[in-house]
Amino acid sequence: MIAQGLLKEPFKDSDENHNEMMELALARIRQLGAHEVGHTLGFAHNFAASTNDRASVMDYPHPRLELVEGEIRFEDAYDAGMGAWMI
Ligand SMILES: [Zn+2]
Repeated sequence: MIAQGLLKEPFKDSDENHNEMMELALARIRQLGAHEVGHTLGFAHNFAASTNDRASVMDYPHPRLELVEGEIRFEDAYDAGMGAWMI
């Protein structure tokens, strides 16, 4: 829903024009899955990682969007991996 709200006319040409939204959703789900596994392992929230080079999946990551020639880009919306911060 975040991506649908931010994309310019996501279904303008067809209902198959959803790859950007799908990639954003899958990246977010990967982050959430890793975050919840972190809790299972005993890691607490890190409330500073998002502003420190995405140092931990244990923050509440928000999508990092880029505005290019009037269009919102999602390619770097979520980081991959756990991050360097583990304690
Ligand atoms: Zn949490």
